[in-house]
Amino acid sequence: MNRTFQGQLPSKIRALFGRVTEAQWRNWRWQLRHSLAGMEDLSRLLKIPDPDVRRYAELLNEYPFRVTPYFASLIDWDDSRDPLRRQMLPDVREIADRKAESRDPLEENRNSPVSGLIHRYRNRAVALVSERCAVWCRHCTRKNRLRPAESPTPRELRRMAEYVSRHPSIREVIVSGGDPLLLETEALDRLLRAFRRIRHVEVLRIGTRAPVVLPMRVDAGLAAVLESHRPLWLNTQFNHPREITPESARACERLLKAGIPVSSQTVLLKGVNDTANTLADLFNRLQRIMVRPYYLFHCDPVRGTRHLRADLQHGRAIYKALRASQGGLCLPQYVVDMPGRAGKMPVELLAPARMIHHEPRE
Ligand code: SF4
Repeated sequence: MNRTFQGQLPSKIRALFGRVTEAQWRNWRWQLRHSLAGMEDLSRLLKIPDPDVRRYAELLNEYPFRVTPYFASLIDWDDSRDPLRRQMLPDVREIADRKAESRDPLEENRNSPVSGLIHRYRNRAVALVSERCAVWCRHCTRKNRLRPAESPTPRELRRMAEYVSRHPSIREVIVSGGDPLLLETEALDRLLRAFRRIRHVEVLRIGTRAPVVLPMRVDAGLAAVLESHRPLWLNTQFNHPREITPESARACERLLKAGIPVSSQTVLLKGVNDTANTLADLFNRLQRIMVRPYYLFHCDPVRGTRHLRADLQHGRAIYKALRASQGGLCLPQYVVDMPGRAGKMPVELLAPARMIHHEPRE
């Protein structure tokens, strides 16, 4: 055992994983194999009172729990206000409002011409190439459709590529999921090549949270494959300054060195980052590691996320303070995603009548 390395891990994580070497810890497959998931692991992280056990079991049945050892090690599991814990820890309020709000507020299903492909905008299409994620974020927009299931079959992927090839208006393919970086590097390479081969596809974009929650996934082999498919842009999601660690900074640097621009699509979350100071700190730190703060998303009105959604007026006040204090490169656009083809709209331009769609209703 590498004692120096063991000493760097919080005691709770040391107790859970025992004799883990640094080489194991830095291996993304080890991280996935040892992810904490399900009721048993949740109870190892924190004490669930006996009367709540049945309710939690019901909750996990609907919205699973999963976190990588790496991301779990950044969390103070004994602090109920820890902003990283709030993103990962199941909350029984997720199933308290089953009738309220929509499972698919952006109407992605309605804009899905073939299984796994979303065509909301004329010149862009989203390919959902993986149903898996390294973690299950409680605020996820797709939390009602993601299941720890198998990835799409080769036939389904072929049908997505065929659809794109039949639509010359599509100039950009956004490869998303789940998390596409959970695919093996060779499978991802094949998939990107299938879209890259289509003459009118000019640009590829990857949406992934791996640099934040599983930074060891960004290894030299992956960076080389992504570099070979340029122009390729990568959007990730940093939500709190504490997520910028030497490991996540290194992952972003590796991508940048491969010529892949990295941007962050931060989600405004109640109790996580809903103060101007926290967001200013986050965006300043992102700028220091050369990651562009691209969007600040107002959390979508997805069923099961209401407890994490900030009040829109509060969001506007935060953004006003940021605008007054931050330079342009530290100021993402604050947007709400509207249903169907309406798309992303700057909150500052949103008419009061349309705000109702995104307001948390208590
Ligand atoms: S990593 Fe992304 S897709 Fe996966 S659960 Fe989190 S927000 Fe959703």
